[in-house]
Amino acid sequence: MRSTITCKECVDLLMDYVDHTLEPGAERSLDEHLASCPPCIHFLKTYRKCTEFSGQLRDQKVQIPLQLENRLKSFLKQEIAQTPVELGPPKKTNPQQSR
Ligand SMILES: [Zn+2]
Repeated sequence: MRSTITCKECVDLLMDYVDHTLEPGAERSLDEHLASCPPCIHFLKTYRKCTEFSGQLRDQKVQIPLQLENRLKSFLKQEIAQTPVELGPPKKTNPQQSR
């Protein structure tokens, strides 16, 4: 099993992480990633606010269309994909796939 995940996987997991539907193993991987990835921590906070907001809407019996929710998710994914990772020395032409 992998112990580290990429930012993209992190984003995917965050959806379930916030919903508390994540498997314990995946949750641990996510925690590890968050511990060393400030952009993802920032993303988590942003996403939490979004879900809080939608939760408030739910209290007011306003439903968010599934389409809108999906658009929000893909927007957030795009956002994190464009966020430069500011860890270590910059390696622009060196995708770190294998470690
Ligand atoms: Zn990350």
